[in-house]
Amino acid sequence: MSYDKAKQNRINHGLCAKCGDPTDRTVYCSMCTKICTEYNRQRRAKRRELDICCACDNKTENNRAYCQKCLQKIREYRTADKLKAPRGVCVTCRTEQCLPSLVDAKLYQRICKKCYLKKAACTQLGSVKYWKQLLRKLENQQFCCVYSGDKITLGVNDSIDHIYPKSKYPDRAIDPSNVQWVTRTVNWAKGCLDHDEFIALVRRIHDRF
Ligand SMILES: [Zn+2]
Ligand SMILES: [Zn+2]
Ligand SMILES: [Zn+2]
Repeated sequence: MSYDKAKQNRINHGLCAKCGDPTDRTVYCSMCTKICTEYNRQRRAKRRELDICCACDNKTENNRAYCQKCLQKIREYRTADKLKAPRGVCVTCRTEQCLPSLVDAKLYQRICKKCYLKKAACTQLGSVKYWKQLLRKLENQQFCCVYSGDKITLGVNDSIDHIYPKSKYPDRAIDPSNVQWVTRTVNWAKGCLDHDEFIALVRRIHDRF
């Protein structure tokens, strides 16, 4: 039996494709997944250090993981993959409904509530694992901006504010207790101000007009 056939045979029988132990996962058991992940992590780190593409052996530019050619291929592959999602369905998970506000957005932005929150958690707090916490916060705020009280609609006017701004408090940049939902307008105005500075500014403006 060829290697690929043997591997497929194992998968079909609910066995790990690598070690052959029974598993309830799709391809590899949890132990083999862990070993593979760690191996890949080290391989990538080493290649990045040497400016070698992680997919081929070409040189990379600008400290990227892949060379220009591979990046182009990956992009094409991803686009083709996202185009498979029917209209109104999330292009990332392809199971949930796309946020109504994003149905007509650019291809890559047509995502569901969960994927949207995961993306926000990743960019604002450095990990997707905080997405549920972000949702709970938004629900606790009753989908209203902390400062203006305006209604917040995901994909339209939502923004995540760092109560203690990242620029002045880098140690609190990925602290989930340091964020709150505000409208984009409010966040632009607040910028790098902390809560007290922002309120003082708003008061000064209010008193003059
Ligand atoms: Zn295994
Ligand atoms: Zn490459
Ligand atoms: Zn999704």
